Amino acid sequence: MRIADHEIITMRRRSFIKAGTLLTSGISLPVLAKKKDTKSTGRPTVISTWDHGLMANEVSWSVLQAQGTSLDAVEQGVRVVESDPLVRTVGIGSYPDREGIVTLDACIMDYHSNCGSVAFLQDIENPISVARKVMEETPHVMLVGNGAKLFAMSQGFKETNLLSELSKKEWESWKLAAKYQPIINIENHDTISSIALDSMGNLAGACTTSGAAYKMHGRVGDSPIIGAGLFLDNEVGAAAATGLGEAVIRTAGSAMVVEAMRNGKSPQQACEEIVKRIMKIHPDTKDLQVGFIAIDIQGNYGAFSLKRGFSFAVCDDQKGHRLVPADYLN
Ligand code: ASP
Repeated sequence: MRIADHEIITMRRRSFIKAGTLLTSGISLPVLAKKKDTKSTGRPTVISTWDHGLMANEVSWSVLQAQGTSLDAVEQGVRVVESDPLVRTVGIGSYPDREGIVTLDACIMDYHSNCGSVAFLQDIENPISVARKVMEETPHVMLVGNGAKLFAMSQGFKETNLLSELSKKEWESWKLAAKYQPIINIENHDTISSIALDSMGNLAGACTTSGAAYKMHGRVGDSPIIGAGLFLDNEVGAAAATGLGEAVIRTAGSAMVVEAMRNGKSPQQACEEIVKRIMKIHPDTKDLQVGFIAIDIQGNYGAFSLKRGFSFAVCDDQKGHRLVPADYLN
């Protein structure tokens, strides 16, 4: 079942302008699918987490409308969010860890179950594109830390200072007040996860984040972990997560959402089932927020979170762009 009742149509002028700029700048032109695949649902759809999902979806949607692949759509979409210094939880301008260093995690997956991932990556603005290069240019799935950075630079990515003046200032005052204790609560992390179905009936997903603000140096969450932050099976559907990564990893969250769909649950029911499972193993949910988005191979979608406040952006042919508040458990 599609969520339809409480959808809020929200079009953002700022993100329109950014998307337009990106597409005409020459760096992110959609790559057209080279071969036709057998399945054809004719229902392109893209879903992304949080309100910055709107900005991603505008770019993703223009790729999908040009008969581009879901892989290009999700990569190009989340890149815009990574490159926006005003988004404080993804890419440049993000909150740093408790040492004042911005470290980024990302992963990407295509309909052949190819995947690539980077974790604990520093000084590179677009980790999602590095993750794609890992997928396409190496025999590996995951590169981390300095190895990931050196690989990125060998692929032509530029070294960039990711710590904005604002983030530096806030981190300095955080250090005084928080006594250096890493905290993860429902306010200080908002990954962009994006999943899409293209006109060839193929799924892809991307997930990119700076993780939790003021985390321990070296901490990696669920977002770059295939099966936790993102998973898809092109015969079934795709799912992606946001929220406390540790809780998502413990349940192999996104993989379990896809498995629930394989077992007959709708995307909405599948997200609900795994959120409930997470709640069951976490007796104290005071500071815990976890949310999932999911889409099946027919283009039906759903989302659900543990707590109020999670929203997702969606775009399809029928209704265009909108931001939807997700249903939640408590
Ligand atoms: N899942 C991310 C992490 O734990 C954060 C988030 O999605 O809000 O690193």
